[in-house]
Amino acid sequence: MKIAVIGSGMAGLATARILKDAGHDITIFEALAGRGMDSHTVIFEDGLIDAPLRVMNPHLWKNTLSLAAYLGIPTFPVRTYMACSWLFENKTETWLTTTRSRIGNFPIINNRKGIKQYGWRLVKGMLQLKTAIHQFFKSKNQDITLAEFMNQHHIEEVFWHGAVMPVLYTICTCNPKTIGEWPAKPLLIFLRQLTDGDALLRLQGGTPALVDKLIQGIEIRSGSAITQITEKDDQILVMNETGENDYFDRVVVATPTNKIDEFLDPIQFADDIALLKQFRFEQGDLVIHTDPSVMPPQRKDWAVLSYMMDRQFTRQQFTVWLNSIEPSLVGKTPVFQTWRPVTDIDPKKIISTVTLNRAVVDSKTVALNKALQERHRSLDRKIFYCGSWSCDGLPILESAVTSAMHIAEIFGAPLDFVGLKPKVEVAPELGY
Ligand SMILES: Cc1cc2nc3c(=O)[nH]c(=O)nc-3n(C[C@H](O)[C@H](O)[C@H](O)COP(=O)(O)OP(=O)(O)OC[C@H]3O[C@@H](n4cnc5c(N)ncnc54)[C@H](O)[C@@H]3O)c2cc1C
Repeated sequence: MKIAVIGSGMAGLATARILKDAGHDITIFEALAGRGMDSHTVIFEDGLIDAPLRVMNPHLWKNTLSLAAYLGIPTFPVRTYMACSWLFENKTETWLTTTRSRIGNFPIINNRKGIKQYGWRLVKGMLQLKTAIHQFFKSKNQDITLAEFMNQHHIEEVFWHGAVMPVLYTICTCNPKTIGEWPAKPLLIFLRQLTDGDALLRLQGGTPALVDKLIQGIEIRSGSAITQITEKDDQILVMNETGENDYFDRVVVATPTNKIDEFLDPIQFADDIALLKQFRFEQGDLVIHTDPSVMPPQRKDWAVLSYMMDRQFTRQQFTVWLNSIEPSLVGKTPVFQTWRPVTDIDPKKIISTVTLNRAVVDSKTVALNKALQERHRSLDRKIFYCGSWSCDGLPILESAVTSAMHIAEIFGAPLDFVGLKPKVEVAPELGY
């Protein structure tokens, strides 16, 4: 079939690759210049900055890593220790740094001050969380939000808000308040897996290496947003801003759904629009820069992940120190990515600011997805939707790939990559 894929994020590219390999004729349409998924990548002092940076746990990103393995892209392990600092009125003070123990590989507190001031409360909090997670997965009612989970279990405040919520904030990258409305289950699965201690993996060559392979042999028309999708007779007319148009047998829309009414025919697709507009998204700025004020004041405390928060946990930000996680940046000027900065970043040190859209999940998302998948099954359907938002669980790259796999199943396309294990090669530049 002749198929148009709208959007070249992870979901669109994975769909395009799978359907192309199944023998279909694919055209991708992308609003941004180049390929959507790596359109914000920056080259800095000959090194690679992925924006956003992508790291993956082998259990939680199973399908994404299998797809990378299928495409011949090796991975390398990265260490994601963290440092947490209080933002006081007149100073910043690091109160927690972590490393992992040699035996058991569980996270341990690395700084004396942290142990002295908060050690017992952090250990207590960790044990309380483990017990609470255990009880949750044994309980019958797992259909609760994270806020409800928190109300049911007492967990030390400094551990929960100072060490756990920042990690969830890194994954969810939405307003910290919104995280409370998320279903607890996928977040707790995530936390359980993370505390098990498997190293996170990154793709060699970063996001561009993956995109190169995903898009190989597929036509992409980029730099022009789709403005119209209309069903005509037995086909679907697709038109973009520059007026290019073409007819297709099927269309897969792999964009966020908040602006879907700007291009879907409002009468033909009224029911789809009504459903899709209920999925929620948030926007935020990712600032790429060289201002070290986002790191702990003392160099010895620097870690890959630097969390900063006020003592009331009302202002918080996280920063990734890119040189310690990307081999091509080792030995170069320290460079950082800060998500939604709440501290001042020197404008002269900003390399780029990227506005990113992020799907957020609430108690309605599972039901909405069920309704969408049911709609997809109707026999005369020619238009389908996917994206990290259209999957139960966390809206990450993995859910984007999983949503593409749902589309593949509808088309009867083989999923040859499933089950392949990622090739892991140590990056010697990182020194571990
Ligand atoms: C700061 C941050 C950090 C993150 N870190 C991670 C991480 O470490 N690991 C992880 O797994 N996930 C991470 N994520 C989430 C992950 O990036 C997303 O879940 C994933 O990229 C979503 O992919 P997608 O294909 O569903 O959507 P998108 O990436 O949003 O792709 C949609 C594409 O459609 C295009 N488009 C939109 N409208 C039109 C139109 N009208 N016509 C043509 N094209 C259009 C857009 O330009 C875009 O390229 C992070 C997200 C953020 C914000």
